[in-house]
Amino acid sequence: MDELEALLELQQRDLEIQQLQFQKDSLIQKHQLLEIKKQLEILNQKISHKKAIRDDLVKKQKFSELELSSVEDRIKTLESRLYSPASNSTKNLQAMEKEVSQLRHRVSDLSDPILELMENIEQVDVEISPMTSQQEQLLEMSQHLQTEIDKSEQQINEHIDQLHEKRDELVALINPSLVTTYESLRKRLGGIGVARLVHGTCEGCRISFSRNELDRLHRMEPPAIDHCEQCGRLLVIGIDK
Ligand SMILES: [Zn+2]
Repeated sequence: MDELEALLELQQRDLEIQQLQFQKDSLIQKHQLLEIKKQLEILNQKISHKKAIRDDLVKKQKFSELELSSVEDRIKTLESRLYSPASNSTKNLQAMEKEVSQLRHRVSDLSDPILELMENIEQVDVEISPMTSQQEQLLEMSQHLQTEIDKSEQQINEHIDQLHEKRDELVALINPSLVTTYESLRKRLGGIGVARLVHGTCEGCRISFSRNELDRLHRMEPPAIDHCEQCGRLLVIGIDK
């Protein structure tokens, strides 16, 4: 293969690699996954917020239950003393009865809020439940999408690898300084570093040459290489499609 033909084919392979890279970056599943991750993030925040409320309610419930159980223990102790046959002074008995009565009030003061706390916890659980189902669904969807992305990326990567191999073979046929020029122009000019002269027009910038410039280019021994005076790309003269 002629060096300039190799250069033009190198340009083709590079465009294909660029296209595949773009295809890989813009996979529809990547966009969908990003959306799901956003939804999951919001949902996770909502769930953590609800769980924090629940933890707080549970803590309060436990604290009240602990107090209630200590009050009930104290009542039991006092009652066992009240009904024991051991002699107790009337004064003592009255004091104990008074304390028991006060403690019973405390029991009812503590019981209602505990019930209320339990109801509140139940309510929070009812709110959390559909959120966790949705969370599971979203996680499942994201895993499914990730699998699809991995599969597509693997296929594209294999194709890119093949193109890179072909690319290396082509580069070996071209003068290294020409490859360097091509590479720097390609990077600077939107992925196209070399173009052909077709029907008096540069295929890179699509601008027609002046009569004088065209005469000069046509006087070159084909296939020849020059630069497009308009876009600066390498210009191959005398190779048709
Ligand atoms: Zn041009």
